[in-house]
Amino acid sequence: MLYIIVLLVLFQLSVPLTVHAYNGDCYLPGVLIEYSNEYDYECACAAIRETRHFLEQYPIQLDQILYIRFKDNLYINHYNEHGTYILTEEVTGSYDRMDGTILMLSMGSRATHIPSFLGTEVTKEIYISMIAHEIAHSYLDSHHLKSNSFLPDRATHEFFAYTVQFEVLTESTRKHLLDHWREYKFGSNEAINSIVYLGHPDRFGVMAYRYSRTHQSMKQIIAGKFISGDYMISQEEADHDVPSPRKRLAKARW
Ligand SMILES: [Zn+2]
Repeated sequence: MLYIIVLLVLFQLSVPLTVHAYNGDCYLPGVLIEYSNEYDYECACAAIRETRHFLEQYPIQLDQILYIRFKDNLYINHYNEHGTYILTEEVTGSYDRMDGTILMLSMGSRATHIPSFLGTEVTKEIYISMIAHEIAHSYLDSHHLKSNSFLPDRATHEFFAYTVQFEVLTESTRKHLLDHWREYKFGSNEAINSIVYLGHPDRFGVMAYRYSRTHQSMKQIIAGKFISGDYMISQEEADHDVPSPRKRLAKARW
């Protein structure tokens, strides 16, 4: 009897921990969304539609595989170039080149809290733009991995992803976010580097969007012709043994 009671108690305890995962494709070929909350699925489909709509003007393939999984907690480990573990960071979204997966912290789940974006509370619209950011990484990566072109480095990838993120926002939300960071802009391609990015990633995003409005950077990134500050600096410091951007990025997660 006691055994049965214990089993029943364990069963009761396990019920709230059981999360049902569903799969959806937003009625698009090559798309797989794994979610447990309808709200997240809706946001993912909106993000795919809006990202594609914006990127349609560029010569980039948009029928590539997209795999998005929503999670109730999301941590990524950082390693240095020798593969030694540095730290674990909690993030809202990430794209992993090794398995082509986009992971997103669920906004539909009550168990999660999405941190603010540029000091503004994350609304559904901003959340959709965050998913669009990761989708942009995925599209750009697939595009360059398929072609033999120059593989963009970290700063270049983030430049592209943030530009897409700001482009899919409504004009009023975008203006609200940009108005808080009026003074921030890139003066040249050299300034677009991973040090500026790591100093304040979202502020880097504001600067990327502004720069892309007056430069042909998006076209150049897609064509593999955009040379970011990281590469320019590494070339200046090089004697003869600088790894090519393709080698340096064999493994990448953004
Ligand atoms: Zn990113």
